[in-house]
Amino acid sequence: MEANTEPYSQFAHMLQQSEKIVFFGGAGVSTESGLKDYRSPDGIYRTAQNYGMPPEEILSRGCFDTDPALFYRFFRDYFTGQAQPCRAHKALALLEQHGKQVTVVTQNIDGLHQKAGSSYVLELHGSSNEFFCRSCRKRFGTECLAQPGVPRCSCGGIIKPKVTLYGEMLDEQVIDRAISAIAGADILIIGGTSLAVQPAASFVRYYSGSRLVIINKEATGYDANANLVFHESIGDVFDKAFEQLNRAGT
Ligand SMILES: [Zn+2]
Repeated sequence: MEANTEPYSQFAHMLQQSEKIVFFGGAGVSTESGLKDYRSPDGIYRTAQNYGMPPEEILSRGCFDTDPALFYRFFRDYFTGQAQPCRAHKALALLEQHGKQVTVVTQNIDGLHQKAGSSYVLELHGSSNEFFCRSCRKRFGTECLAQPGVPRCSCGGIIKPKVTLYGEMLDEQVIDRAISAIAGADILIIGGTSLAVQPAASFVRYYSGSRLVIINKEATGYDANANLVFHESIGDVFDKAFEQLNRAGT
């Protein structure tokens, strides 16, 4: 029996017809790169066992202020691996290379979209590759993690990752840019998120076009609103869509 390629052709056609592409991605994009998902029930359980508290407590402003050593132990374990961009990251970079105006809005902090070659990435929760001194505001890269324990600036101040922790506000400017990109998008592709948390869920409402594509392993509360829904790996969906584009000779 031949597999039904129709939805992938439709997705390919939508991509072809769109100039302004917005991809809104969640944790599912990073897990395809082999990053550990500390948000999964198993991950939360393991974290609580190994560190004495669940991840959302460790990744909180309160924990950073009271026990930065524990914070950095977790941070190093989860965010400093040698993860590489996966097929979804590469597919978006490829669309940009082909002249599309691609905006990536991501809930992830791993910097893998930039590593893959995407140039316009809005990181809602900041980046695990950028740091700053809380006293003098000097900026640092991941090299500061070579220091044992809690990294410190030469001024003596504690260095903090440029990541939005639980208990901290998201960057309003980044949110505004994300909303305006979504509102002006020809196609909105949502990948690897169940859209269960704010502000992610509310972002979808700013899209008024007719090319809303949702790619997530599990069903989302917005599937009924989408023009195309795939319950499978994001990498697979992009691969199959690109196959259709190549077959069409474009
Ligand atoms: Zn300093």
